[in-house]
Amino acid sequence: MPIISDPRTALPKSADVVIVGGGVVGCATAFFLAKAGLAPLVLERDQLGCEASGEAAGMLAPQAEADQAGPFFEFGLAGRRLFSPLAEELKAATDIEIEHRPIGILVPFFGDSDREALLARARWQQKSGLSVQALDRREAIAAEPLLTDKVEGAISFPEEAHVNSRGLVMALAAAAGKHGASFATDRPVTSVIRDGDKVAGVRCADQTVSTRTVVLAAGPWSGLFGEALGLSIPVSPAKGELLLVRPEGRLPDRIVYSKQAYLIPTSRGEAILGTTTEFVGYDKRSTLAGLGAILSGVSQLVPTVGSATLLRAWAGLRPHTPDELPLLGRHPRIEGLILATGHHRNGILLGPLTGRLVQELILGMPPSIPLDPFRPDRSMPFPA
Ligand SMILES: Cc1cc2nc3c(=O)[nH]c(=O)nc-3n(C[C@H](O)[C@H](O)[C@H](O)COP(=O)(O)OP(=O)(O)OC[C@H]3O[C@@H](n4cnc5c(N)ncnc54)[C@H](O)[C@@H]3O)c2cc1C
Repeated sequence: MPIISDPRTALPKSADVVIVGGGVVGCATAFFLAKAGLAPLVLERDQLGCEASGEAAGMLAPQAEADQAGPFFEFGLAGRRLFSPLAEELKAATDIEIEHRPIGILVPFFGDSDREALLARARWQQKSGLSVQALDRREAIAAEPLLTDKVEGAISFPEEAHVNSRGLVMALAAAAGKHGASFATDRPVTSVIRDGDKVAGVRCADQTVSTRTVVLAAGPWSGLFGEALGLSIPVSPAKGELLLVRPEGRLPDRIVYSKQAYLIPTSRGEAILGTTTEFVGYDKRSTLAGLGAILSGVSQLVPTVGSATLLRAWAGLRPHTPDELPLLGRHPRIEGLILATGHHRNGILLGPLTGRLVQELILGMPPSIPLDPFRPDRSMPFPA
């Protein structure tokens, strides 16, 4: 893949499209644009996938996370459908295995309110024709013998899946490169250059790249471009911590999930445990409080987890918006500026489809899903 990694190397003077940010959204956008015959340039401040995209838990879980049907739910389902063919395409193009595994998610319930909310979720999803099963206590424990004996039942979402997030970013970037995209790392974009109400290029240290189209995919840093552009781009960081452990005995066969915590068995016999949500700026430290909260939450689901060996602890920053929906589309006030950010907890699930949607926007094609609910200039319930 053509990566300009030496900051002393001159950047190209112009590009069809400049993508700011080399996370899953930026790399997926580069992939779909390059496949369509354009030559996008990705400018990444640090390394590809160095932020949330390379650090995420990797669940593809539109059903387990959804409280209601609606455009965001449809976005998630369409995003999940893209993964099987994408995994094959990326493997064939790059030989990188993104470890897409539709292992399913089990959501146990414990008290009356928990049970009613989850059974209601199972009912509306069943009515929509989706694959979901309500299990009683005996069935839940038979399905997953490591569950706590306090469990009263569970909802099973057999089509939910897991993917290796870092592998996904690297495969998208490598495939994009094969189709003609370029990447420059260690290149922080300092501003988007305007010519009146149009995009004219970007500035990167003392260099300028001319372009008529900029895709802003800088994750929780995207909001920092707003002030200079005179726009509100309400994205801010929502910190989440994760742990990687090796269990003493066997692992659950599927993801075990609750609102408080989750356990994801990986293909290497380890487990990813998550997570926390904190609004503490750009702080990415792993804390004992975070570790304690995750351990306590997961132990309530799978009590044997306490004897596992801790292999790694880390944190990442989700791009959060006030209404928790992505900002996706052309900005109506600046011609040539496309926002592709704010995917919060679901950027791995939604990243590839976001790349395709940006490709459709740039080529003037009808979008695969309605984009109006994600308009970058929509009114938000409260300030970021
Ligand atoms: C703990 C945790 C668990 C998660 N689990 C899941 C999950 O299970 N499933 C799921 O779907 N999602 C999950 N997510 C969410 C997901 O990781 C994010 O939504 C997604 O990675 C966002 O991708 P992005 O490309 O928009 O942003 P990022 O990954 O943040 O990428 C943005 C890139 O822009 C670069 N950048 C910033 N400023 C500049 C600049 N000025 N110039 C150039 N480049 C710049 C950054 O260096 C970064 O590489 C999780 C997130 C966290 C933190």
